[in-house]
Amino acid sequence: MITLEKHLAAHASVNPGEEDAHLILCHCGTWFDDEGDHRAHVAATWREARTVRTVEELDALPRNSMVLDPTWRVWQRIREQWVALGRLHAPPMVPFPVVVLWTPEDGAA
Ligand SMILES: [Zn+2]
Repeated sequence: MITLEKHLAAHASVNPGEEDAHLILCHCGTWFDDEGDHRAHVAATWREARTVRTVEELDALPRNSMVLDPTWRVWQRIREQWVALGRLHAPPMVPFPVVVLWTPEDGAA
């Protein structure tokens, strides 16, 4: 799972050179007319990078990771099991897609 620091480095603005100084070049190679569009791109690619759609991706997350499912349930990986926090009733499997809220690689809680 990519960290925010690595994501921001991958999508930092790059000096496009004098001829294109009015444009913004993202480190990923995408061009933008203004900074607002670039910021929206960084946010959208971050959401996509943190979206998990398969059991294999979910199982690859480390213990204690937390994800948000499409019905606003927060799940945490406790040992090898995914537990819906604060819910008496939850489906037996995490419904997809989920957004990764936090992993131990993100640093202190
Ligand atoms: Zn980019």
